[in-house]
Amino acid sequence: MMRMNGVAWRALVAPLLATAATAAFAAPQGVALVPPNGARFLENQRFDIRVEGYGQGAYSASLKVNGQDVQFTSGEQGTTTTDGVSAVEKDASGAVTRTWGGFNARGFSFSRPGKYKLEATFKDATGETSTASTIEIVDVDPGTGHGRKGTLAKNVVILVGDGMGVAHRTAARLVRHGVTGGDPDGYLAMDKFPGTGLVTTHSLNSIVTDSAPGMACYATGSHANNGQEGVYPAHMANPFYYPRVEYMAEYLHRVKGTSLGIVTSADIEDATPAANAVHTGNRNSGTGICDQYLDESDWQATGRSGTGLAVLLGGGRNWFKAATGEQYSRRATSTDYAALPADLLAGWDLPASAAGALDADRDLVGDFQKAGFAYVDSSHDLQNTMSGHGPDRLLGLFGWGNMNVALDKISARRGLDADVVNAYHAPDQPMLDEMADAALKVLSKNEKGFVLMIEGAHIDKQSHLMDVDRAIGETIELDRAVAVARKWADKLGDTVVVVLADHECSGFSLMGALANKQSSSNPTNTGGIDALKTAAAADLAPAKVVGTYDAAGFPRYDFTKYDDGYPATYDIDKKLLVGFGASGDRNETWLTKATPVIDSLLPTAVKTELKAASYVSEPYQRDAGKGWVIGGQATQQDQAVHTATDIPVSAYSSGSDVWRRFVGVQRNTDVFFKLMKATLEREDSRRD
Ligand SMILES: [Zn+2]
Repeated sequence: MMRMNGVAWRALVAPLLATAATAAFAAPQGVALVPPNGARFLENQRFDIRVEGYGQGAYSASLKVNGQDVQFTSGEQGTTTTDGVSAVEKDASGAVTRTWGGFNARGFSFSRPGKYKLEATFKDATGETSTASTIEIVDVDPGTGHGRKGTLAKNVVILVGDGMGVAHRTAARLVRHGVTGGDPDGYLAMDKFPGTGLVTTHSLNSIVTDSAPGMACYATGSHANNGQEGVYPAHMANPFYYPRVEYMAEYLHRVKGTSLGIVTSADIEDATPAANAVHTGNRNSGTGICDQYLDESDWQATGRSGTGLAVLLGGGRNWFKAATGEQYSRRATSTDYAALPADLLAGWDLPASAAGALDADRDLVGDFQKAGFAYVDSSHDLQNTMSGHGPDRLLGLFGWGNMNVALDKISARRGLDADVVNAYHAPDQPMLDEMADAALKVLSKNEKGFVLMIEGAHIDKQSHLMDVDRAIGETIELDRAVAVARKWADKLGDTVVVVLADHECSGFSLMGALANKQSSSNPTNTGGIDALKTAAAADLAPAKVVGTYDAAGFPRYDFTKYDDGYPATYDIDKKLLVGFGASGDRNETWLTKATPVIDSLLPTAVKTELKAASYVSEPYQRDAGKGWVIGGQATQQDQAVHTATDIPVSAYSSGSDVWRRFVGVQRNTDVFFKLMKATLEREDSRRD
């Protein structure tokens, strides 16, 4: 019913050519209209419209699109309860301080490209406030400034090095291949992609984004507020009720029947993976996020809505096991949702079963299996399940919180030291390239194509923790997955692969190499890395170990001892030294840290075990009493923070030259439109 409304007025309303200014009159407070001014959508891409505010007495509202009246799908006029799901704010004593009213128009889309002006009024007992925004509908047709009319890309692979800036890539290349006489001795797989550009990273409410809007802007074409994914900001009783914008996976599943794969080394609930499939105003709602992966996957294969999720690989088993009876479960009603509004379900063609329930005791692994997913929880299991044809749908949960980083996984695989992975209760985890290969094998069974997002999550997490060697190891791990994606793109044809980051993290900077500065004033520094291992704190001062300019020379890591693609050790003479422009206060001993900082998403019981085993919770607690203590950093944080700098994009495509479109400087939301246009370009444009 509600969609009929949208369809009917979509036909009536013509695109607007000029942008008009918004006007506001005092009375109700906090009046806001979303989508916000400047939002862009692809033709036929779905989104919700909402006007909200607060004040006194009963609320009412109106909405016009290009001057034509539009009916809301929820929000009862002349009431204080309006849509029944707007926020009621209370103070510490429980007294109501603010009652929001809200009116929604769910699941709209426009088929005609151009600009549209949305005008809304919001009224309370004291008066009326007007607000407006102008949005743009973007044509999928090629030939609008993006070069020749291209061939279709059937498959999209997005690799995200979370927090990966230019310097992370340079560091990984330096460590992996070395430099001789001024030239790199080799290049990363991502370096070899033909299309390289720069991408802005800002979110809807800040120059510095977090991963939720950072990823969501690639997957929706719209900016979101920090901490939010697949939604516009709102004041509502549950973050899962917020006004939605359609994901790439949802759009392509609905119009083409594609599948979605999500692969990450993070906890599956984390912002980057969730920002491909889950609509929530709170990135920390793990229970609801993991429920929505399945409940809006369209596992029933109706093709009418949902993401087409067929592969979900990562950590985060704690969200999939019932709260009762599983000591490591983190499922809780406080991070869940129930009763998605009826007009939301109708506007997005979702089945009644997608409404959700407060079900901390849900056996989500069991429900995935009932929906046709094979379930694996170790590398060994994954290998077995993938032998032969492999399953049609695959769920792999390889850790309780985030998975371990490459450095610790590799140490265990080499039979050297499995203490860390054992301490994390995840002794047998796959590497990211192995997960990517499995995902591509499963997804390639869908002849209608797929969207696959592969995240190297710990580039960010270890940069936050200022753990240089673990961050570089993660970048190498991601690059090995990039190589796998390129190999599959060549095999499948008509596949576009982009390597992105959601933002840079830590102001990672390559300042030089470990220097052996033996001198009369520094007599204990006698032997490079070995001397450093037993050096007194005073001898670790930057002036005594940091070699800049020619003192840095050419670090060379040993890749010959093992054939797994990772260095024998990071603690070499002249090891690469990294500074953190956005650092927190910390100790620095320059050597590889024996243990990681405790993963914040682990079950509490495991964290307690790790603390008892001398793992620390914050980087400044490392190597107490030894090393270099920075005081009073500008960020005033325990950890390093994200930065506002542009990130590099590298693009590759088989069967077309879609990669060319990513050359240059672009807005982060442009990435969505470029990928979607490549995927939707009409058959007839191929014949030109
Ligand atoms: Zn981060």
